[in-house]
Amino acid sequence: MPAGTTNAGAPFGRRTEKYRDREGLVTDTMTSRPPEVHGIDLDPATRCAHYHGPTDIMAIKMKCCGSYYACKDCHADLADHPIEVWPENEWSQKAILCGACGVELTVRQYLNSTSLCPSCRAPFNPKCRRHYHLYFQVLGSP
Ligand SMILES: [Zn+2]
Ligand SMILES: [Zn+2]
Ligand SMILES: [Zn+2]
Repeated sequence: MPAGTTNAGAPFGRRTEKYRDREGLVTDTMTSRPPEVHGIDLDPATRCAHYHGPTDIMAIKMKCCGSYYACKDCHADLADHPIEVWPENEWSQKAILCGACGVELTVRQYLNSTSLCPSCRAPFNPKCRRHYHLYFQVLGSP
């Protein structure tokens, strides 16, 4: 048995159509139909009337109704019910949409993303971190 050939034995072992991240979640890269995003004065990158800076490109699926909204204020204006935050035990749900590339992230992927889309590297607005408690059940929030 020659040494140093540990990676040479399985050339067909990685033919998978889905990308599996380190949490073991499957990210389907064949998103042919992006989810509909609700909001006020939306642009193609899901910026809205409230948050329209260059990095305000992500939409959030609301726990309460399962619909994507550009921001909590769009939800307040358009939905007829109060917002609900994502409890931590559901952070493996896909609930973040990158308006730049259309990839859907789980809550946990987003919270771990350090304000960059892990798929297209588009920067997310770092100020959104101040609003995490409005969307996600974070430790220390009331
Ligand atoms: Zn809702
Ligand atoms: Zn908005
Ligand atoms: Zn992206």
